[in-house]
Amino acid sequence: DPVPAKVLEVRGIVQRFGAFTALDGVDLTVGPGEVVGLLGPNGAGKTTLIDAVTGYARPAAGTVVLDGEDVTGWAPHRRARAGLTRSFQSLELFDDLTVRENLLAASDDAGAASSARDLLWPRRAALSDTVVAAVDELELTDVLDLRPDELSYGRRRLVAIARAVASRPSVLLLDEPAAGLDEHESAELGRLIRRLADQWGIGVLLIEHDVPMVLAHSDRVLVLDFGRTIADGTPQEIAADEGVRRAYLGD
Ligand code: ADP
Repeated sequence: DPVPAKVLEVRGIVQRFGAFTALDGVDLTVGPGEVVGLLGPNGAGKTTLIDAVTGYARPAAGTVVLDGEDVTGWAPHRRARAGLTRSFQSLELFDDLTVRENLLAASDDAGAASSARDLLWPRRAALSDTVVAAVDELELTDVLDLRPDELSYGRRRLVAIARAVASRPSVLLLDEPAAGLDEHESAELGRLIRRLADQWGIGVLLIEHDVPMVLAHSDRVLVLDFGRTIADGTPQEIAADEGVRRAYLGD
């Protein structure tokens, strides 16, 4: 079944750690089928923002609205069930299941946190079309019947991303998905990200250290520095922005 298109609207997020203000009023919108890149130097607040959006941390101020519904007080698993999904880290894959079973398990509980103990046997016999296409784009077809611990680090990471896709997200937050991938794997990932957006209308928030990758695949790019948005524009505008170049691109 098609996943409902949803708009993510994040307004005025403030996050403090003691006296330190890590986010100082950040706004962000991700529409259906839109890839929004989030750039910024180390310590800019990117992970802190994703934590606030996904519910892993409670912001001191600000709201997170998913398709008109205020989810600011919701727990992470409830947001995930509503379609706001963070890419799973490869550590969260089950090494006693095959790649296929990992993907089936994620499809079954639609993003809810599950443990191996809770997992009886995947109820669905077949992977959904979306997951099959993701597996195909990531060239994982040949490893479906292997266990994640039999794969290279890069492949494991791609399985973790396919797993996030299997949970049927409306908005997918990818936190450094290209970390540890080789050039070929990064290219596969880039193609998948575009396909998630263009073909299935999934909104993607892409946080990456790999600046060329973000500029190549995003519709819009936001740049954070010291917990504030210093630029918001098309990849072309961001690449040409003086402030961004000074703060971040090392010019
Ligand atoms: P980025 O992901 O952009 O590298 P982070 O969101 O990880 O940046 O961190 C933003 C700032 O907040 C950094 O200065 C970091 O040291 C600080 N920070 C993050 N998490 C905590 C925490 N739990 N306690 C104290 N400071 C934190």
